[in-house]
Amino acid sequence: MRTRAALAAAASVTLVMLGFGLAGCSGDSSPLPPKAGGPSASAPVDAGAPGAVDTSCNPRASLRPSGALPAPGQMPAGSTMAVIQKRGRLILGTSQDTLLFSSRNPFSGKVEGFDVDMARQIAQAIFGDPDKIQIKVIGYDKRVSSVVDGSVDIVADTMTANCARWKDVDFSTIYYNAGQKVLVNSTSDAKSIDDLGGKKVCAASGSTSYDNIAKVPTKPIAVAKPAFGDCLVAFQQNQVDAISTDDTILAGMAAQDPYAKVIGPRFTDEPYGMATSKKTPDFTRFVNAVLEKNKQNGTWAATYKRWLGAFGAPPKPPKAEYQ
Ligand code: GLU
Repeated sequence: MRTRAALAAAASVTLVMLGFGLAGCSGDSSPLPPKAGGPSASAPVDAGAPGAVDTSCNPRASLRPSGALPAPGQMPAGSTMAVIQKRGRLILGTSQDTLLFSSRNPFSGKVEGFDVDMARQIAQAIFGDPDKIQIKVIGYDKRVSSVVDGSVDIVADTMTANCARWKDVDFSTIYYNAGQKVLVNSTSDAKSIDDLGGKKVCAASGSTSYDNIAKVPTKPIAVAKPAFGDCLVAFQQNQVDAISTDDTILAGMAAQDPYAKVIGPRFTDEPYGMATSKKTPDFTRFVNAVLEKNKQNGTWAATYKRWLGAFGAPPKPPKAEYQ
């Protein structure tokens, strides 16, 4: 039987494979991830949900699609989609260590998952080819700033649409409903996050989870790491007692660690939207039209089955809400 120490070593090797070993021959242009303690560890964190929850908006309500979708390859002149079409690729910002949603396949070197497929379907609608996509690997704390500075067209990265973020970026309609839970050692007696007062609980910088841990009345100690892959290594090396994030992300971690279990009810709602620039509302409307079509024609359900089918039959896709 493998010990947790052996597992920690294996996890480190896996992360090296995921993040470093194959990045140079990956076939996409994903850069290497930021190193622990590197820029993203100290850089200002994009607003998640600091302090009290901002309820000044309906974060699920996006921009209504305008008319029928143009045919792939025939984006209307003057539109943001025409600019992307001319460039020849859609630029997606995402993670490379969120198993099932966006993680680097160590065999192919490609970043893949439910989130990546959501963006590939946008590329399909623009070009008629889902491969016309460039993936930029970004930290969670760069999801808002990468959209704002225009270095990516869109972020699909288990990103919660919330009012704090809506101030800086637009979101598509909701494409997945997640919620926050906790991962602990399989021998732990804890039943929920409330039982972890005074314990070290890891989350990624710039994630909503990090802020939510600090709000738990029993006062767990929130520990920030650049990415959730770093949290998993810290957990396996006993540097932290638990990891708290969306149940989706924890499911991917539990699948990699037989000595871990996910506990408790969801203690937050984390509706996922794709982030787009406030300067390109035509693109946001286009993305919403593609989502609407794919939720209706079965593409969303097929994507769910492909990546999340192990958790059961696909639920109904989240219903679109518009402003
Ligand atoms: N959905 C979260 C966010 O957008 C990511 C995961 C987390 O917060 O832990 O920040």
